[in-house]
Amino acid sequence: MPQVFAYACDDKTSVFHRTTIEIREPADNEIYFDIQYAGICHSDIHTARGEWGPVHYPLVPGHELVGVVKKVGDKVTKFKAGDKVGVGCMFASCKECEYCKAGEEQFCNNPHAYFTYGTDQNGNPTTGGYAQGFTVREDFACRIPDAIPFETSAPLLCAGITTYSPLKRWQAGPGKKVAVLGMGGLGHMGVQIAAAMGAEVHVISHSRSKEEDGKRLGASYYHATSEPGTLEALRDTFDIILCTVSASDLNYTAYLNMLKPYGVFVDVGLPEEPASINLSALVHGNRVMAGSMIGGIDETQEMLDFCAEHGIHPVIEMIVGEDITEAYNKVTASQVRYRYVIDTATFND
Ligand code: NAP
Ligand code: ZN
Repeated sequence: MPQVFAYACDDKTSVFHRTTIEIREPADNEIYFDIQYAGICHSDIHTARGEWGPVHYPLVPGHELVGVVKKVGDKVTKFKAGDKVGVGCMFASCKECEYCKAGEEQFCNNPHAYFTYGTDQNGNPTTGGYAQGFTVREDFACRIPDAIPFETSAPLLCAGITTYSPLKRWQAGPGKKVAVLGMGGLGHMGVQIAAAMGAEVHVISHSRSKEEDGKRLGASYYHATSEPGTLEALRDTFDIILCTVSASDLNYTAYLNMLKPYGVFVDVGLPEEPASINLSALVHGNRVMAGSMIGGIDETQEMLDFCAEHGIHPVIEMIVGEDITEAYNKVTASQVRYRYVIDTATFND
């Protein structure tokens, strides 16, 4: 059993410290890889701080992990030692139910998909990406294309697929006006992906502070909600609004009113508090309010290949293990530009 360094927190204060964890040897159908980079998703923060319910502490979060394959089981055909791989939010599912067969492992109902830091099939807690190693079934790992700068690639495994999947499903493309609400880790990927799909992209952000970046990443228009009249001026404008906001104090009714008839407000943000909307904003114009959760493994690979083909990748700030605690505070204060990525080699220091 390889022992590796990892960073864990012990309670809701989400103060991280270095620790040692054991990673299992790969079984016949599994690979073991050295994690090199791990992204910090806002979901890690919601989880570590107990915002989504009870947590198994000590917690080693991280569901955006990339690294290089070290060992493969006897029956592995997809990967060999030296390959660059990534794992996202899931590490297993039944692969037999109707959803798994359709490539939508995230909806597995037999009994459910297993999430990267949660519990395994025996109910034991599992560790995630803030660690130096990971063992996973080969069919839950994706190949990282060479065209994507490796050190930037980790956030694609969650932020990339979580924005690609709804943009594809709701047909962002030429002739469509897409607004990305909130330009954080998910939002800045949503802007790039929607632009690469050919849509006219708008950013709707708190302030003007990200305007230059938004336009550089592919937005044609940028709106700041801190400026009076912004929401009203955008009534009946968009085909799709992709909401990546992590807080629920939004005026959802005003955003629904920004949709054209048949337009879609698709939410990926997961704030802890419930929200309220005025249903008349849905009824007028036959508008749709939808949600979207990550994407399946094949679609995740498709997203990686799409990003490689279009020359897009996350904008990251690289940090060391000792910076994780502070990074959490900066993410919740919307100060990250646009994803923190942990260099796990620094865990040896
Ligand atoms: P993030 O980097 O913190 O970005 C969230 C953005 O929301 C911020 O940059 C900010 O954008 C905006 N925002 C924050 N507080 C706000 C407020 N009070 N009012 C209005 N806007 C606010 O977070 P992330 O990692 O992108 O994740 C975003 C959300 O998606 C989280 O809730 C996360 O748990 C969820 N998530 C869902 C899935 C899924 O499968 N559906 C997957 C991953 C993550 P501006 O500064 O531009 O306003
Ligand atoms: Zn995530």
